[in-house]
Amino acid sequence: PDKPPLVGVRRRCQRRGMTSSAFTVTGHWIGGGIVAGSAGTLPVLNPATGDLVAEVPAGTSADVDRAVAAARAAFPGWAATGPAERAATLRRIAAGLAARQEEIASAITAEMGSPIAMSRTAQFAFPMAVLESVAGLADDFSWTEEIGNSLIVREPIGVVAAITPWNFPLQQIVSKLAPALLAGNTMVFKPSENAPLTARILAEVTDAAALPAGVFNVVYGTGPVVGEALSAHPDVDMISFTGSTRAGRRISAVAAGTVKRVALELGGKGANIILDDADLPQAVATGVMMAFANGGQVCGAWPRMLVPAARQEEVVALAVEAAQRFTVGDPNTETTVLGPMASEAHRQKVDGYIARGVAEGTRLVFGGPGRPEGLATGAYVRPTIFAAVDPRSALAQEEIFGPVLTIIPYADEEEAVAIANGTEYGLTSGVFGEPEHALAVAARLRVGQVDINGGHWNPLAPFGGYKQSGNGREFGRFGLEEFLETKSIQR
Ligand code: NAD
Repeated sequence: PDKPPLVGVRRRCQRRGMTSSAFTVTGHWIGGGIVAGSAGTLPVLNPATGDLVAEVPAGTSADVDRAVAAARAAFPGWAATGPAERAATLRRIAAGLAARQEEIASAITAEMGSPIAMSRTAQFAFPMAVLESVAGLADDFSWTEEIGNSLIVREPIGVVAAITPWNFPLQQIVSKLAPALLAGNTMVFKPSENAPLTARILAEVTDAAALPAGVFNVVYGTGPVVGEALSAHPDVDMISFTGSTRAGRRISAVAAGTVKRVALELGGKGANIILDDADLPQAVATGVMMAFANGGQVCGAWPRMLVPAARQEEVVALAVEAAQRFTVGDPNTETTVLGPMASEAHRQKVDGYIARGVAEGTRLVFGGPGRPEGLATGAYVRPTIFAAVDPRSALAQEEIFGPVLTIIPYADEEEAVAIANGTEYGLTSGVFGEPEHALAVAARLRVGQVDINGGHWNPLAPFGGYKQSGNGREFGRFGLEEFLETKSIQR
């Protein structure tokens, strides 16, 4: 713990014969210290350059067993502490992260290409807000209540396994860690193999914050090996997963064998419904931002913009104008708005969707397939807008998870609601219009979260999916309840 987590070394990048600065993570974090992995390593590549930035252990089921045993051993002691003490620990963790903000920002930019300005702000501010808001729940939450002759007691579940994606590496884990710990659980965390570098920083911060050894453990590795071992493990009481619907289905199936609780935050295909009484410039500018921010690699993004057919040309002009501001470039440049996709494999997937849209004859109004001018290498794509998109097409149905906006015209409000609800997902939506009108439309949407006229993020409001966008909710009181068992005692 007194050693820096990511020791900068110069290392030959064997893949490309280039020299690069690298971070080294020498082992898992189990029982309050570094434990050497039992197998080889996994490379972490910088998507802007292809350079090797780190290697992390390729975890095995033996590593999972060790971490679960450490979490189990730490559970009774941690569960016996009170919410006030646990909230104080969360606040110390927040202070510890704040002290390492720059290191966290550069790790996130190196591993998944988030522009450095965003790594210092959104990537960092969201987890800080979550820690503070969850700590603030300790005093007011109903840990016990009386119903007639029954005493109702909320108790921790036990050992929670957390599995997260790469798009907001620190935010995704803090959204699970904060409520799980406040509830009195212990945790084994598997970060995304694509973006695992903040996990060790977080582990060290929890240690410095006097979190008892074994309450928080990290096992690095792939989904099929470490993720499935956690999902199947008989001594893991709950899986809290954020990632693709595909992996969520698999985790549910594997976890069914031990009937553990499974909370799933999965994919989305958000619709931004622009009503005929909307402030069009505001609705379109906000909508483009919500489609392109973080390179479109946001589960709650709005890649579909639903517009009255008669206003489509106005919308196209406004959207193209707004899109010009999304300059693509080196994520280490302060003014870059869009960095690369998080990996070369992901670039190919996103670019494939853009190329397919063009091949199918969809009307392209901005961007297009191929790399942006001047960026011949790196996982860059061109932010792209299609118009007059068929709502049943792959472009409008499948989660692309890139900066690809589809403008879809609708004839009337009935059709707008049907299109918005017409995917397998149900995570987020936007509605722009006169406030009462927008509220009436919001009530008809089968999604877990709706922002009216660009309403801003509330860390105490529940977030989660309807339909195949998942089950369970994160944040605030609703998020805390996910990590608690309920016992009734009749007397
Ligand atoms: P992914 O599903 O490929 O991976 C997410 C995590 O799951 C990784 O840690 C991965 O190793 C692990 N995993 C993969 N296969 C697994 C398996 N069979 N068993 C256990 N674990 C497994 O997703 P990604 O590419 O990292 O992230 C993008 C996806 O995440 C998108 O679909 C996006 O919508 C979703 N996401 C959802 C939310 C939300 O809150 N609803 C937030 C962010 C991202």
